[in-house]
Amino acid sequence: MKIAVLPGDGIGPEVTAEAVAVLESLALPGLTLFSGDVGGAAYHRHGVPLPDETLEVARVADAILFGAVGDPACDALERHLRPEQAILGLRKHLGLFANLRPARVFAGLEHLSPLRTDIAGGLDLLIVRELTGDVYFGAKGQRVTDDGEREGWDAMSYAEHEVRRIAHVAFRAAAVSGQPLTSVDKANVLETSQLWRDVVIEVAAEYPGVTLDHMYVDNAAMQVVSHPDRFGVVLTGNLFGDILSDLASAAVGSIGLLPSASLGERQTAHGTYGLYEPIHGSAPDIAGQGKANPMATILSAAMMLRHSFGREDDAVRIEAAVARTLADGILGGDLGGSHGTAAIGAAVRERL
Ligand code: ATP
Ligand code: MG
Repeated sequence: MKIAVLPGDGIGPEVTAEAVAVLESLALPGLTLFSGDVGGAAYHRHGVPLPDETLEVARVADAILFGAVGDPACDALERHLRPEQAILGLRKHLGLFANLRPARVFAGLEHLSPLRTDIAGGLDLLIVRELTGDVYFGAKGQRVTDDGEREGWDAMSYAEHEVRRIAHVAFRAAAVSGQPLTSVDKANVLETSQLWRDVVIEVAAEYPGVTLDHMYVDNAAMQVVSHPDRFGVVLTGNLFGDILSDLASAAVGSIGLLPSASLGERQTAHGTYGLYEPIHGSAPDIAGQGKANPMATILSAAMMLRHSFGREDDAVRIEAAVARTLADGILGGDLGGSHGTAAIGAAVRERL
């Protein structure tokens, strides 16, 4: 099990250290950790936010544990030297086309969610978002028409193979978790969505154990807020996924608890190559103070065990330990508590 640890900036090193400690406490077979500089930390040492050495370390590993990048000291740099470029570069060079964002309201934390407290507890879904196609990457431009009016356009397109491979990621996730799959599109008006729907239905034939339904994106946005419990795995394209994943994250109401995965095409011995990171950023305002909540990164490590190493049991154990820790009232400042990074990490390990 080769894991590249890229802590990055701000609270990145603090939260990744706790996630690594959790992994080390699990007695995983052949666990080997590599590390690399990334973001502002890399810029200060190597003059670039994503050095070749780091990319190489990421490539030889089966999975990457990523902290966060962002450094106020780099604000004045040209765009290609800014820390944020590191994550974009990793996505591009490593072909990470699938973004997985779970959103879950843990028991006892319903009051942090902006959803009605009697329904908030029903929010436990996984958004599988396509990351490399759609309207962001189609032909785009602006022009002045013959009438002298300005006009802009962005072409939305999906190729069959792009839909097929992201659909497989979502069906595999639904098969492992036993949850139903909802494919979200806008097939009543968009051709891309028609193709999307057709391909998803074809792929579904390979996963007879997974229940599939289809929903228009406008309805899906409403249902996440009004009936969150009707979702398990949500499969969608880049644009709709961008919006829905932020909607779902906001519905949880606690940034320090949200993990994510970005998966590539390469298969490892027991899963899929991927990069795992918390949703939150480098939080320079609390960096170096031992205050950051490491749970989002610890939950990201659980996702890594599930998706890159086929260790569902270990993933579930970590998630259960986090849930217990929260239920026992061990809360970081972001959740209205006063426990620090190390205390939270230790509490999770005790409950493993
Ligand atoms: P970046 O520029 O890297 O995105 P940011 O400060 O803009 O950093 P976040 O890092 O997402 O954005 O932080 C938003 C707010 O949430 C900050 O006030 C930060 O302190 C807080 N925060 C983020 N992550 C955590 C965490 N793990 N634990 C506690 N508070 C957090
Ligand atoms: Mg930010």
